[in-house]
Amino acid sequence: MRRLYYADSLLTSFDATVETCTAADDGRFHVTLTETAFYPTSGGQPFDHGTLGSTEILDVIDDEATGDVVHVVGAPLTIGAMVHGEINRLRRLDHMQQHTGQHILSAAFDQLVRARTVSFHMGAESSTIDLSRELTPDDLSMAETAANQLVWRDLEVGVRYVSEAEAAGLPLRKESTRTGTLRLVEIPGFDLSACGGTHVPRTGMIGMIGITGSERFKGGTRVSFACGGRMLAAFAAMRRITQTAAKALTVGASEVPDAISRMQAQIKDQQRSIRDLQEQVTTRLAAELREAATVAANGTRLVVRAQPGWDAGAIKFLASAIVSSPGFVVVLTGDGSPVPVVAARSTDVGFDAGAWMKDATSELGGRGGGRPEFAQGGLNAGTNDILAMASRTLS
Ligand SMILES: [Zn+2]
Repeated sequence: MRRLYYADSLLTSFDATVETCTAADDGRFHVTLTETAFYPTSGGQPFDHGTLGSTEILDVIDDEATGDVVHVVGAPLTIGAMVHGEINRLRRLDHMQQHTGQHILSAAFDQLVRARTVSFHMGAESSTIDLSRELTPDDLSMAETAANQLVWRDLEVGVRYVSEAEAAGLPLRKESTRTGTLRLVEIPGFDLSACGGTHVPRTGMIGMIGITGSERFKGGTRVSFACGGRMLAAFAAMRRITQTAAKALTVGASEVPDAISRMQAQIKDQQRSIRDLQEQVTTRLAAELREAATVAANGTRLVVRAQPGWDAGAIKFLASAIVSSPGFVVVLTGDGSPVPVVAARSTDVGFDAGAWMKDATSELGGRGGGRPEFAQGGLNAGTNDILAMASRTLS
């Protein structure tokens, strides 16, 4: 079976005879033709979309055992009949731009920063190259610049066939795992690779190659990139993000990073002020609550109260502030589920806050504990029940 895309990657319309058509277990049909322009998933490049006769292509498989290209369709085709194939041109062009772009970018990494391409993946949205070593941001932009300069020289992308023995004597960027006749894709003076993929006829057709991200991966670097139409889409997405950020910050796009740094510094200052104010308010409240404390039978002064809207950290701070003066026992509840509770005492008072918290958890349910001078917990009871229990046990 002739693979028409080997010789002409721009061919997106063809006629062929149906050689076989078999029903698969999943209800689909597997069709082989005398020749095809449909590219099957292989070498990191996904299969072509399109139609065969009046039926949609669902998948195109490279059957390495038979050497056939298998077209997966939803309806049977008549064996021996002529059928018209129509390939989705924009999807094919996109794959050609990404694939030739990948060859150029891989060659640039190879030559400029001695990073070998370990593998290549073309996804529906982003494509990646895994490189053999870790790279700096400078390495990445150097390779990116060189790759684009090569694109703009609009060099012809050549295809030729050689035997395995001939290939052994050629400076191939990547050794082929295939045997027999090898298909070589050549960008004269720059790159020579064994590859069965579809490529643009001239490098200018790629338009532009952009590195969209990079991360450490298995001791090397995984680089995401976009070529041609995908690069334009990536630019448009980035423009939307930048414009939204600039508008929100009411600055020009180029001032966004500085505006964020300024805002972060302001937030830090404000957080410090809020902490200071909270401390002042709590200290004053602690003094007021000490004044209003009730006196227990043993002479200890008691503060038992709810602080609606306060979290565990805030009631902890208030309790510590109250017991910093001698003679006090404090039980405070805050807001939350379970209800946050703290129990504390001044150093001169003979009360075990940890033991009290244990009693409270066994009576009311929940978790908690601590030392004799300070304990905290979360109780599964209403605030009133917790305060009632505290008043009863402490008075
Ligand atoms: Zn390739």
